[in-house]
Amino acid sequence: MVETINLVWIKRDLRTSDHLPLQAAEEAGLPYRILFIWEPDILAQPDQSERHRRFEWESLQDMNQRLRPWNRLVELCYGSAVEVLDWFCQEYKVLNLYSYRETGTLKTYQRDRHVAQRMRFHQVAWTEYQRNGVERGLQNREGWLQRWWTHAVSQPIVNTYSPQSLALRPHPFPLPIQPFEFLSQRQGSMQPGGESNANTYLESFIQTRHTHYIAHLSKPLESRRSCARISPYLAWGNLSIRQVMHRTPSGLKAFRNRLQWHDHFIQKFEQETRYETESINQAYADLAWTHRSDYLKAWELGQTGYPLVDACMRALLETGWINFRMRALLVSFLCHRLDQDWRWGVNHLARVFLDYHPGIHFPQFQMQAGVTGANLIRVYNPVLNGLKHDPLGHFVRKWVPELQKLPNEFIHQPWAVTPLESSLFGFEPGVTYPHPVVEPNQNQSPAVKRLWELRQSEEARHEKKRILGKLSHPPSLQSQRRRR
Ligand SMILES: Cc1cc2nc3c(=O)[nH]c(=O)nc-3n(C[C@H](O)[C@H](O)[C@H](O)COP(=O)(O)OP(=O)(O)OC[C@H]3O[C@@H](n4cnc5c(N)ncnc54)[C@H](O)[C@@H]3O)c2cc1C
Repeated sequence: MVETINLVWIKRDLRTSDHLPLQAAEEAGLPYRILFIWEPDILAQPDQSERHRRFEWESLQDMNQRLRPWNRLVELCYGSAVEVLDWFCQEYKVLNLYSYRETGTLKTYQRDRHVAQRMRFHQVAWTEYQRNGVERGLQNREGWLQRWWTHAVSQPIVNTYSPQSLALRPHPFPLPIQPFEFLSQRQGSMQPGGESNANTYLESFIQTRHTHYIAHLSKPLESRRSCARISPYLAWGNLSIRQVMHRTPSGLKAFRNRLQWHDHFIQKFEQETRYETESINQAYADLAWTHRSDYLKAWELGQTGYPLVDACMRALLETGWINFRMRALLVSFLCHRLDQDWRWGVNHLARVFLDYHPGIHFPQFQMQAGVTGANLIRVYNPVLNGLKHDPLGHFVRKWVPELQKLPNEFIHQPWAVTPLESSLFGFEPGVTYPHPVVEPNQNQSPAVKRLWELRQSEEARHEKKRILGKLSHPPSLQSQRRRR
């Protein structure tokens, strides 16, 4: 006899508490299976990387440990979602599919449409719940902020579970050993995934680490301890926004505002998915950039000859995290100093950010590249930022050990060292550390000049109006610029 069941499809919601789809499955009273799907053609996309898989893997292990008392399990399937779900619908009489609604790239959106079509075919009711405060189908932001706050301060769900009553027959989508051997090698330099680790990070921030939050936000070294460091846990859904809000004292205003920015950016992307591939301000569509693959390579590897830029990139490659200002500086350097199209660097940073979320990443990247026409063009000077935010060069020395022996006055501008002095400091320009990839003493870069000129054009202004009308910032975002 064919058993009647429901399915829960886990995506970027890798947690067992404050989880609507899991609650719905419990309340429905039928046996249910919980699935997480790794889809080869999505994993092969240029924004994806091993560190993302490892984080998901660790999160799944944590979920399964938590679900064990009820003999429940999130089953990892390897195959296309359509193929996997089709199989379950053929093996069982599936009544409902429960999941969160994903704000993702075009690829995952198309996948979801295909799944919706198959669910209709199988007569399965697919309920997609709203993820955090992000709404689908908005034409503008009227009332969004109020609705967001209502959601953010509402009580998180305390999920309860009943024992699994179904004998879980094996499915034909096991994870192949190749190419996933890397999963068994723990990467100690990165934040570990999972709800338990998420709670540890959040708790230590709220109890002690927040003390110098504002003072250290912009500092590449100190921010590593003083910022919350919960971004990967929010990105992969180990925590929900309201769980964090619920546990945060109202006095931590700057931090609470940033939780709102999290959803504000994802909401932008939800409303304008073109962010992924096109400059959102159409006036910038045909902007000319110089294409230099050697510049791109140097930027990606942290070998530009600009110590702060290289230190940031190397820290990212190793640990998957740097603070906001340094992310903005990397983008600014790529687009404004190296004169490269933002699209040539956006996927590299997506791959190395452990907290990569397309909804934040693409809009932020474009904002920092200066192609929205709606935000000021902010050019981050690596030397001035180094002198201000890493004045003693501790961050640079940690990540660019070639410059260990340079005195502080040269640490952010090694090109100023004379040939005579360089041998004293055990440093050979162009040999032990690269010459600057572009001229350091340039007044205004051609890219910035072009961006400013374009900003004044009729089309850019017209587009700006359209963008603001549709996606305009909540007032508290205005303070972002002042604080950073
Ligand atoms: C080019 C660029 C790309 C970015 N890509 C991502 C990304 O893919 N994923 C991501 O989570 N963040 C991204 N950010 C935003 C920001 O840098 C990180 O959220 C922040 O550094 C995470 O560290 P934290 O958890 O210690 O943040 P905290 O400062 O402690 O803030 C708490 C939370 O608020 C949210 N938040 C903070 N600042 C921002 C912001 N400016 N915009 C949106 N949300 C914010 C994050 O969820 C963060 O975890 C990007 C920024 C830039 C400039």
